[in-house]
Amino acid sequence: VSAILEHPVTDGEFALISRYFDFARPRADVVLGIGDDGAIVAPPPGRQLVMSIDTLQAGVHFHADGNAEDIGWKCVAVNLSDLAAMGATPHWLLLSLSLPAIDHDWLQAFSRGLRAACEQYDAALIGGDTVRGPLGITIQATGSVDPACLLRRDAARAGDVICVTGTLGDAACALLHYPALERDNWLYRRLYRPLPRVEFGRRLAQFAHCAIDVSDGLLADLGHVLDASGVGAELDIELLPISSVLREACIGDLIIEAQLRALTGGDDYELCFTMPPAALAGVMQLAEELEVPVTCIGRVRAGTGVELVGAMPALRDRLAAQAAGYDHFRG
Ligand code: ADP
Ligand code: MG
Repeated sequence: VSAILEHPVTDGEFALISRYFDFARPRADVVLGIGDDGAIVAPPPGRQLVMSIDTLQAGVHFHADGNAEDIGWKCVAVNLSDLAAMGATPHWLLLSLSLPAIDHDWLQAFSRGLRAACEQYDAALIGGDTVRGPLGITIQATGSVDPACLLRRDAARAGDVICVTGTLGDAACALLHYPALERDNWLYRRLYRPLPRVEFGRRLAQFAHCAIDVSDGLLADLGHVLDASGVGAELDIELLPISSVLREACIGDLIIEAQLRALTGGDDYELCFTMPPAALAGVMQLAEELEVPVTCIGRVRAGTGVELVGAMPALRDRLAAQAAGYDHFRG
């Protein structure tokens, strides 16, 4: 659309798009990419399309003065994490970018991060929109699934085992220490260079029926699964996968500080999934093959809410104090 109150689209803006965003490698399924009024793609025969969209706003979802390359990576990664949680294979992305000004250094770095994530996960940026406004990034991602193999939130059943990939709470810890962290710091990378579990999610769909990505915190996100599935769960606090880095960062505090972050910290982009116990062996073999750590942390049961087995009273108190956001928590 044209900005009727400001200047019309100029050749400069088209040059900007071709310079920074027209980097996709040709994919056989992209009939027409950037440059026309719309992109044209050929959906893979026999599969269903999965679509997701996420907006990241400066000062809300990333630091306004943060590293632009890492912001570019992260805005792709968080979208691909949603596709991974559906068991989907990513194909195409659309980018809507709102920029306060044209800053070539920023755009160059942003484009580098965006491109690296696209290439890492074989997703093509096929179009978008560029406007002047407060710094904000919206990405729409489309992938595909085999309709017989997908991961939904409403498919958890009493008796299922609850598992999670990787470790939890690291990104929340990184946020706390953010200004002091170098870009190559492991915690910083957990926050700004998340590695969505795309291949694992895609192959998990043969074994599990239910998954969600942990973007808002384990209790909140598992809560969505339980709600949608009409079941409850018990989690064993001692089993929560907590990285040695998070453990050490919480030294001086009680272990409950680390547990609290693992339960409520956001931005980890790990997968939480449930499956019948009989599927566990297959999942563990997949985990080994793909070198993705998988930990069983609890079990789905009839009823509602989450029972925290092995939680110290101090942890329960801290959770209760935060309870507004975690209405699933039950002592
Ligand atoms: P229109 O005015 O027809 O909507 P635009 O000037 O918005 O066209 O975009 C021109 C072309 O560039 C389109 O193919 C569009 O998809 C693409 N495009 C615009 N902004 C971006 C962006 N930030 N990233 C990728 N592609 C973009
Ligand atoms: Mg047009």
